[in-house]
Amino acid sequence: MTPFATQHVIEITYLVAAVLFILALKWLSAPATARRGVWAGELGMALAVAGTLLHHGIVEYKWVVIALVIGSIIGVPLGFVHMTAVPQRTALSHAFGAFCVTLVGTAEFYLRAPNVPHFMMAVLSLEVILGALTFTGSLMAAGKLQEVLPQRPITYKGQNFVNLSLLGISILVAIYLVLHPGQKQLFPVIVGIPLIFGVMMIVPIGGADMPTVISLLNSYAGLSAAAMGFVLDSKLLIIAGALDGSSGFILSVIMSKAMNRSFSNVLFGAFGQVQTSAAAAQEARTVRSATAEEAATILAAANAVVIVPGYGMAVAQAQHKVRELFDALTKRGVDVKFGIHAVAGRMPGHMNVLLAEADIPYDRLLDMDAVNPEFPQTDVALVIGANDVTNPAAKTDQASPIYGMPILEVDKARTVMVIKRSLNPGFAGIDNPLYYLDKTLMLFGDARAFVGDIVRELAGGGH
Ligand code: NDP
Repeated sequence: MTPFATQHVIEITYLVAAVLFILALKWLSAPATARRGVWAGELGMALAVAGTLLHHGIVEYKWVVIALVIGSIIGVPLGFVHMTAVPQRTALSHAFGAFCVTLVGTAEFYLRAPNVPHFMMAVLSLEVILGALTFTGSLMAAGKLQEVLPQRPITYKGQNFVNLSLLGISILVAIYLVLHPGQKQLFPVIVGIPLIFGVMMIVPIGGADMPTVISLLNSYAGLSAAAMGFVLDSKLLIIAGALDGSSGFILSVIMSKAMNRSFSNVLFGAFGQVQTSAAAAQEARTVRSATAEEAATILAAANAVVIVPGYGMAVAQAQHKVRELFDALTKRGVDVKFGIHAVAGRMPGHMNVLLAEADIPYDRLLDMDAVNPEFPQTDVALVIGANDVTNPAAKTDQASPIYGMPILEVDKARTVMVIKRSLNPGFAGIDNPLYYLDKTLMLFGDARAFVGDIVRELAGGGH
């Protein structure tokens, strides 16, 4: 092929890849089309890599092959991590991407300096600043989620001032470099300080807030890739980076809204630091508990049941047992639906993914706005390992840290049953008044074991 024809092939490949990326995001937005979305994204990425391999700028393929082998050795095992480890796995991918962006930006600077036009230097600076802070920030986030680093927020006086000053210094030096790109000795400053800033930025944020932070870091990684697209004159990178940047940002907004928290509260609020003494609050009140046999009897007599899964279902890996329960009740003519809160679990779509894995029909999954009007007509709301997302204090207790967070109104159902191991609080570290209502029955135990017991009772029971 002539270089001209090759260039055409590359451009067309990139165009198809860009369209596939856009379709992937569209399809990923609904459970029924999500698988197709994943395939579209993968095909798009394969085409993007193939197109790049045809690039005339590649002098020899030896290094490309070595990089592909190293990348595959690291990447393939990452594809097999446990579902609950997906947030930290995602953070690692962002870290690798951002590291790569930073290296490319650094190489481009030293190849071009001192002849770097102002616009080029501006996007290059943006690229390396965002890339460097995303690299260390994502590593920290992954470490906190994997619990190799302390989860609790570490704060000190003047922390926000120190952090913002670090960022401010890098931006000022970047502006100076835009005006004087020949000052090569200053370049390490706009890489080094953001590397430190990435660490400092994550230190004061609690481990459980990491998923929101990761989706924000995702958007930084996307923006830095888009900036790299300008530096390398690659339209595909600009499109892919912009898609990544905006979707990550939208996701962070959705998550923050569902928790009724602002970005600044997530980033600077040190959430999870002060745990209210739930144990003390529990002492004065009593709860009613029930056995699996009693729970099975109540469920079998119900007409309408709404199951509300939460983080505990994920921890217990109870989704397959929940599927068995769904089948057993449906067979008896009980109308079973699932109420899904946007931030149930610890990552966006956590419950949808688990329930899809267990082949629960998509049309049985209702989001909060759809399911809340149903609770008053529901005989039993069965809460499985969910806590905060059902806490009525979010509506009534102005002093509560989750006050204002929209919740699944399970307390409006005729009977509420809650499967969890103890009266311990969930992520927000607060007591849940739901457990002390007259209509509530606590089913104490591990979610998988307890749901399994209920299924056995239903199979053997005489209903
Ligand atoms: P919670 O964290 O509020 O509660 C989970 C409950 O599960 C705990 O109270 C725990 O009680 C129980 N549990 C744990 N292990 C088991 C088990 N093996 N069997 C049975 N129960 C178990 O979870 P929710 O899903 O209700 O709420 C999610 C929280 O996470 C919200 O506060 C949300 O803001 C936050 N969050 C969510 C993000 C997301 O993207 N989804 C991101 C960041 C934060 P016990 O120990 O007694 O068993």
